[in-house]
Amino acid sequence: MELFPVEYGRDLIERHRERFDDAVVVTQPEVWPAVETRIGPATPRHVEIAHDLTPGGLERLVDELPEAPIVGVGGGVAMDVAKWVHWRRQTPLTQVPGLPSVNACFTRMTAIRDGGIVRYDGGAVPDLVLVDFELMRTAPIAMIRAGIGDVLSCHTARFDWELAVAAGNDPAWDEEAAAASLRYISNLAEAAPAIHDATDEGIEALMELHREIGWRCHDLGHARFEEGSEHFFAYCFEEVTGRTILHGEIVSLGVIAMSLAQDNRPQHPLDIIRAAGTRHRLDDLGLTWDEVETTLRRLPAFAQEGRYWDSIAQRFAVTDDLLDNLRQAVS
Ligand SMILES: [Zn+2]
Repeated sequence: MELFPVEYGRDLIERHRERFDDAVVVTQPEVWPAVETRIGPATPRHVEIAHDLTPGGLERLVDELPEAPIVGVGGGVAMDVAKWVHWRRQTPLTQVPGLPSVNACFTRMTAIRDGGIVRYDGGAVPDLVLVDFELMRTAPIAMIRAGIGDVLSCHTARFDWELAVAAGNDPAWDEEAAAASLRYISNLAEAAPAIHDATDEGIEALMELHREIGWRCHDLGHARFEEGSEHFFAYCFEEVTGRTILHGEIVSLGVIAMSLAQDNRPQHPLDIIRAAGTRHRLDDLGLTWDEVETTLRRLPAFAQEGRYWDSIAQRFAVTDDLLDNLRQAVS
């Protein structure tokens, strides 16, 4: 397996400070101060606060940023902008994720915001990903614990994929990927208490899962083992409410809802969520039951209209049982 090169440790910023010297740093204001104080005497040539993922905004940076190695520091936006500039210019790239909820450091494409829709383009492979535990722990604990969402999604996504294949819909079943998907869930269950406590071991286990999943999506040419109805639930929630919450939290909520709709061992993902301390109760998330119920009722039509991959989302019925069980799980 050709996974992205990565280093784990507590003093990686200091040990790799020469990477920051004379480089173009693409970062976010919440993360950069905690890194800046640790790189001295190295001095970046330019620090760009990433905020614009439109095609125009990305190309402007390709044209205007100084010619230098790129260092991405922060969350998904910084990682994605850094990937784009690196890919367009073929300059060296180091990625320093500041949030464990982010798998963007282990994926090749940038999520471009193009006229209200998200599309993926690009092909970045960083020279090195630096996962600095101390930097990760400067993030709010809820963000660390939300990092499980894009791994937990394997639970419902693999089931959706199997359902779609049985109905004669593409892409073809891949036994190895399907088995890996189950393995990721059991690895996640094992690591959940350490993720809850944000220990070195917990952060490393979580990031290793993101790393392998990112590689496998590329290798397989699709993400059906990791992305399914739980993500469509999240997108539908955004349409219904006009707002969003942490990606890992809304996806985790989607896993709870869709595993119930699938009748697919719903207690298992709920146990993992509870062990990791991922916020999932409506009060903790600042959601109302009405928002969740409206999302659920809208979802089958939303998934059909949006031509999402075939999954339980297009097929399930909103029964009183489903509503009662979901309400109980998130109260
Ligand atoms: Zn996701």
